[in-house]
Amino acid sequence: MKNVAGDIQQNIQLKELNLQKRNFVNDAVRIIEDFFVRNRGKFVYIHTGMFILFSILILVPALLPVPMEDSTLWNSFTLLARLLIWGLWFPLLLLSVIFFGRLWCGLLCPHGALSEYASRKGLNRPIPKWIRWGGVPIASFVLVTTLGQLLGIREYPLAALEVLGGTMIIAVLVGFLYADGRRPFCRYLCPLGPLLGIFSRLGAVSFEKEGRDSKGYPCPTFINTAKKAGSSNCIECFKCVNPGAPGSLHLEIRRPGLEIEEIKKRRPNLWEVVFLFSATGLALGAFHWMVNPFYIRYKQAVGSFLLNIGLGDWIGWSGPWWMMVNYPEGGDVFNLVDFISITSFMLASMVGTAMILFFLTALSALLLKDKDPLIVTITRLGYLYAPVALVSLVIGLGLILFQSLGAFGFSRETIRMIQGIFFAGGGIWSLYLSIRLQGGLNRAIIPNILGIGFVALAWYQALF
Ligand code: SF4
Repeated sequence: MKNVAGDIQQNIQLKELNLQKRNFVNDAVRIIEDFFVRNRGKFVYIHTGMFILFSILILVPALLPVPMEDSTLWNSFTLLARLLIWGLWFPLLLLSVIFFGRLWCGLLCPHGALSEYASRKGLNRPIPKWIRWGGVPIASFVLVTTLGQLLGIREYPLAALEVLGGTMIIAVLVGFLYADGRRPFCRYLCPLGPLLGIFSRLGAVSFEKEGRDSKGYPCPTFINTAKKAGSSNCIECFKCVNPGAPGSLHLEIRRPGLEIEEIKKRRPNLWEVVFLFSATGLALGAFHWMVNPFYIRYKQAVGSFLLNIGLGDWIGWSGPWWMMVNYPEGGDVFNLVDFISITSFMLASMVGTAMILFFLTALSALLLKDKDPLIVTITRLGYLYAPVALVSLVIGLGLILFQSLGAFGFSRETIRMIQGIFFAGGGIWSLYLSIRLQGGLNRAIIPNILGIGFVALAWYQALF
């Protein structure tokens, strides 16, 4: 009897403790929300600062001479800018969505902000149908990623200026032409938008509806805030957060991965899954052509093929620096064979990987025997690859960051271990999502294990 009373007492104490914890988290979230709502009018100062910083980082290195062999971070601004853009900004941007969602897009991104400001002063034309087609973000990602590889975007400042500066000009143009005070570029054309969107579904932050009020707020990325169900297009601008007002959304902190676990009621989108599969394959191709011995054989075959069809005179042709790597002074020049081989290798990797993952996901959906149509189940299950893809991209794009850890006293083994832990974490998280999405541990997991293993192995070969 004494024991039962003790247990009840312990349970009550535990519940009180949980309640206190929840109240503490809620209070903290309300303080953060209140801060952003009160200061959203001042975002313009942050946007201006980011525009200046970004412009310096992409413009100045393009005007400076190429760093010498013995240059270091401390005496070469070009190397410092390279570390800041490719070593810190890019990988940490992807990682940040787990903790903050797409806060970068709404608060810090100079492209999006400029596009919105241009759109306020612009022609306010209706957005053409073709821009709103679901395949456009995939095309944008493919174009920018492939061009980045052909230009040597991480090594050469002129290439970074062309791609990052060029997309900024397009963002401004699109904003100027279409929509009034909104961001059609961020929603439909940004090459990074869909990637950040899918990964933000894994994130710990979301904006949720307060009541059943049907009032909506104008959203820069064209979300119907009265019916908002998913996070992928939300750039966290706080414009729909008006505490106490009808139809307001509020900031919510949740368990990372929760939105994907309950993706059925979070508006899953087949285009997002197609993008996830394709982007994984394209990114894999972008790393493999640099390290995989098979690529050398493939390039030789492409060269022989061009010779056989009578294009021998063109094989050695090198395009200008804005089309492909062309720096004879550094001994780094691509020719037509490089151009065709890299492009086709990356595209083949994209299509091949997407087909393999689609086939395995379809097999898992068939084994699951869900009552939903097959394509609906495939769409739902496809999201399980988000963690393994995210972690692999962070490790791959963060190679410069990991290499720089050596300068801070980290041994090679320790760096490898950190990368390994990250890598394993992504795979395990994907497996966990697979179990949650298929409603428990059953045989439908087998194709998913194969798919996760395939992605992990392909990345492992490219990175380790
Ligand atoms: S849903 Fe709200 S916070 Fe998200 S982008 Fe739209 S207006 Fe901004």
